[in-house]
Amino acid sequence: MTNCPTCRAPYRSGSKCYRCGAKLGAVLAVQVEAAAFRRAATRALSHRALITAQGYADRALFLHRSKEALGTAALVALVRRDFKAACELWFESCQSAEAEHRETPSGPAGDQGERQD
Ligand SMILES: [Zn+2]
Repeated sequence: MTNCPTCRAPYRSGSKCYRCGAKLGAVLAVQVEAAAFRRAATRALSHRALITAQGYADRALFLHRSKEALGTAALVALVRRDFKAACELWFESCQSAEAEHRETPSGPAGDQGERQD
C-alpha cells in the first residue's frame, strides 16, 4: 500500500493511518495474502505447472490488482503463450506504476523509501 485508501495520505507503517486514523490492518492482510499468491504463481511457473500458476495469479489479481500482481499475471500469460493477455496485463501494470509514481510525494520529506508492498 502506498497510500491510505481513505484519505490518500502516503502510507508510512503500522496498522493505522497517521493522518486520518483509518484502521489499515485488513487492507494489509489482504495485500500479504495477495503477495503469497504471487509467489505461489511464480513457484508454479518454475515447475511448469501453467494452469496452477494461472490460478494463483488470478487470485492475486482478485485480492489486490497491484502492479506486481499485474506483472506476475503478464508473465504467466506470456509463458502460456497468450500474448494478447500478456500485453494487456503488462500495459496495465505500467499504467499502475505511473499512477503510483504520481501519487507519491517527492522532495526531501517524501515517503518513497517506506513502501511495504
Ligand atoms: Zn488516512
